[in-house]
This record gives sequence, structure tokens and C-alpha cells, in this order.
Amino acid sequence: MIAIYENKVKGVQAHFSIEIEEQRELAILKLNKLNKKTTDPIDKAYLESVISLFERNKNILVWNSKKINDVKEKLSSVPTYSKTSKKGKVTYHKTIIKDKILYALGYKNLRSTFYPEYFKKIGIKVCVYCNSQLTITAKKTTNTSDYSAKFEVDHFHSKSEYPFLSICLFNLYPVCSFCNRAKKDDAIEFELYSNEVTKTIKSDYNFKLTSYSKAKYLITKDLKDIDITFKEPIPSKTKTKTKTKTKTKTKTKTFNETFHIEGIYQTQTDVIEELIIKSQMYNKSYLKTLKYSFDKLSIQPKLFKRTLVGNYTEDKDLHKRPMSKLVMDIAKDLDLV
Ligand SMILES: [Zn+2]
Repeated sequence: MIAIYENKVKGVQAHFSIEIEEQRELAILKLNKLNKKTTDPIDKAYLESVISLFERNKNILVWNSKKINDVKEKLSSVPTYSKTSKKGKVTYHKTIIKDKILYALGYKNLRSTFYPEYFKKIGIKVCVYCNSQLTITAKKTTNTSDYSAKFEVDHFHSKSEYPFLSICLFNLYPVCSFCNRAKKDDAIEFELYSNEVTKTIKSDYNFKLTSYSKAKYLITKDLKDIDITFKEPIPSKTKTKTKTKTKTKTKTKTFNETFHIEGIYQTQTDVIEELIIKSQMYNKSYLKTLKYSFDKLSIQPKLFKRTLVGNYTEDKDLHKRPMSKLVMDIAKDLDLV
């Protein structure tokens, strides 16, 4: 729900420059091995164009969003084959070379090795789409007490259409597994990496307690009376999807349409209930006393606010903890922070 400053990410990539170059070299090695085994001329031609892309561009894995956009359409589409159903309907499917390229690039392996470290350094722990869940899933390894953590990422430009972008770091958006499944290969209009500082400080997305909701709840004490709305930018693009021989126009979906944001957060009214109660109990003089106690401990004002509402209170920190966007927006509505 907010962008990260591109230069900050570049700094992290510089820190991992050796590992990133190793990923590119290993990818070239495996793609060349795959090429030796590939016989189909159309698959081979596509694969060789991918190999050439990796060999010619030393910095391909750190291409920024603009560069990725410029290059992605220049490479021909993944080869397809046609299937005719009993009713005579013709459908097109990508050939097996797509999956083989994905395997050679090693994206799955990087999810449990490099990505957890990389995104930890960038400071993302929470789904960049819904902000309600973590991006890590942990699994207990067989016969030991250790856990293996896997990082969930969405490919902004789908790995099905653009397998060669599957390990390009600016194409990776940390997400929760629900949002990853919900988005599939759909396009959405949200850029996680930006050069515009303002986009990294203020989110364009906003939760709001509907009018009268607080007053009504205070009378009834019924969670059902707590009602929130979610505001977001309206997508401007109508995307044209090309599926060999057929062109379909699809409207870019909103966050709410894709990830059911209101549906997720309507189950969290108890969080808002606590904030409403705090807004009633913590009057100005009580807040002053609390603040005085915090000052005596030499605790920063930001930490005072976080302790007060139980979450981060600035948009720029919303990748740090689940539900922070909801809590900070409603806390501001209630004049708590
Ligand atoms: Zn999510």
C-alpha cells in the first residue's frame, strides 16, 4: 500500500552484489545446459534469446521497473501450441520450455535461501498488497527441530508471460500467500519501487471509520456497528491482453476487487473497538501524564505513539507490521495520534 524508495533498494542490492552476480552466472550455466537438451526449433530459438539477454546484460537482475518495462515486450512471447476440443474450440497453451526456464533460473530455491535475507535488509515483513499478513511461511524440517522459512513473492510481471524476469529483483513484490493466489497473472496498478520520495512517505490508500460508526458503537457496544471503508486510487489503464490470434481488453482491477481488502478488514472490527475505547479513556490530561512517564524513560515520541496504539503510526513504516495501515488510519481518525 506504499512504495519503497528505489535508491534504498539499490543500496541493499549493492550489499549483495556478489550473491546477485552468482545468481546470474548460475542461471547462464543452467540455461546453456538446458539448451543442449532442447530440440524443438521454436523452443530453442526462444531459449537462446533468453540466454543472450542474460549474457549481454550483466545487471539484468537489478534492472529497475522502468528498464524492465522497456525491455519486456522486446523479447518474443513464450512459444505456444494449440489444442482443439471435441466441440472444435481452439485454445493456446505455453510449451514446456517456460517451466524449464523457470527451473533453470532457480526462483523456487531462492525463495528459501536469498530472498528472506534480502527483503529483511530492505525492511519488508508484511504483504505489500493487503498489509494484513506476513510474507514468510515456516515449515518444520523432517527429523530435526529446525524450521525452513520460505519467502512468498508475487511477480509484478507474471512469470508465466515473462519467465526471464522471474529472478529480476525489482519484479519481486513480497506478499502473503492469499494475495499471491488471488492476483494470479492479473495486472494491477501499483508500483512498489519508486524514485518519487513523496510516494514513499504518504500512501494513496486509506481506511476510514464511517461517520456515526464510533457514536453508534459507543451506544450499542456491538461490533456489528463498527463500519469501515477503504479508499484507493482508481486504475487508469485498460490493458490489452494478447493471446496468440485473439486480443481481449481487460480493465485493470482495483486492490479491493483483487484482494478483497474490505472483506479481510471487516473481520478485524475488534481491533478498531480497542482503538475507540482508548480514544475515550485516553483524554488529553491522561495522555499528558503518560507522555511524561515515557519522557522519563528517554523513549522517542514515535515509540510512545506505537506503544499507545499497538502498531506503527507512520505510512513509511507500514511494511514493518501486519495491520499497521488500518490501525494508524483509524487512530488518526480518532485523534489518538
Ligand atoms: Zn496479502
